[in-house]
Amino acid sequence: SSTLDIGAIRAQFPILRQTVHGRRLAYLDNAATTQKPEAVLQAIDRYYRTSNANVHRAVHELAGRATTQYEAARDRIGAFVKVAREQVVFTRGTTEAINLVARSYLQPRLQPGDEVLLTGMEHHSNIVPWQLVGAKTVAAPVLDDGSLDLDAWKQRLSARTKLVAVAQISNTLGTINPIADIVAAAHARGVPVLVDGAQGIAHLRTDLTALDIDFYAFSSHKLYGPTGFGALVAKREHLEAMPPWHGGGDMIRTVAFEGSTWNDVPYKFEAGTPDIAGAIGCAAAIDWLDALDVERVAAHEHALLEYATEQLSRIPGLRLIGTAPHKAGILSFVMNGPHPQDIGSILDMEGVAIRTGHHCTMPLMQRFGVPATARASLAVYNDRDDIDQLVAALQKVRRLFA
Ligand code: PMP
Repeated sequence: SSTLDIGAIRAQFPILRQTVHGRRLAYLDNAATTQKPEAVLQAIDRYYRTSNANVHRAVHELAGRATTQYEAARDRIGAFVKVAREQVVFTRGTTEAINLVARSYLQPRLQPGDEVLLTGMEHHSNIVPWQLVGAKTVAAPVLDDGSLDLDAWKQRLSARTKLVAVAQISNTLGTINPIADIVAAAHARGVPVLVDGAQGIAHLRTDLTALDIDFYAFSSHKLYGPTGFGALVAKREHLEAMPPWHGGGDMIRTVAFEGSTWNDVPYKFEAGTPDIAGAIGCAAAIDWLDALDVERVAAHEHALLEYATEQLSRIPGLRLIGTAPHKAGILSFVMNGPHPQDIGSILDMEGVAIRTGHHCTMPLMQRFGVPATARASLAVYNDRDDIDQLVAALQKVRRLFA
């Protein structure tokens, strides 16, 4: 069928069956982290019950099973974003993946005055790692509707630009950035592009080879998988040229007191015992999401975004921040009167989970002249009942602050 059975999908998430403060749980904090379906919980449980062992080491049966499942996750992730398995470096998530590129790709190439070109809507984890290695961070402005000012971005692309880094989707505004245009313009000047896919991976079909993206970072926990796991997916030529950044077991070929040599990519970036269950859980999440079809999921979320936008627009004194024409299921807003913190607390008492604060995008808060926003963010299991519950709770906020 062309539409998803959201009721049947919801039923696969045990956490959503509970009540919170006596109310049905309307979980609308999916940009922070998504809930996990039964299939993912079972994959992790099954691994620990039947196959737990360390990987890439012993010859015994369990070690073989653990290694097979762990490496199968690499194939699965590579297939999902359309790259070869060797291009998939396992990390603890998006943040660690970006730090790896900053330390291992950018830092050795950096000359005084070199810049990383960002946008004004980047997450702190796509700003601070570049600053930590001494790069100058330059940000292209965000338009009033939350879109990137692409012309202004192009003007900032210069001979000093060593790297372009951009969010696929803004975690605060929901803006979907024009990645193909950005890659084309950057590559025309020989500048590589890192895409922060933390918010994109679960909501957009992503073909890294077709998009010709140099570096792509994502976190498993935003795509219905476990926390503490993610990947840096990169072009092989970049990975080959990059030195390792963490030393330890598994990343070496030979070790001697006179000096050591490195394992092949991607293993030279993976020191120490990894999050094996994390990789297996992430692969299970990708299997689960792929079976639903990311494009159908996106269509459902878009319809719900339109419904929610219409409903929220009717609330007097509520201002939506981020109304870009090309937008994913994220609704940031402020209200006349209550601070976002108050909104979040009152909503919680109504069983509605949203995020309040600066969303790790302090420069963006400054751009819109607000200290914080309230943010509702959608996932595949959200339905109109969640939005109606949100709207009713916001009406209560209004009454309390009238
Ligand atoms: N970038 C964006 C756009 C995000 O939304 C997030 C998560 N809030 C991150 C990076 C960082 O992801 P993680 O905390 O999983 O490393």
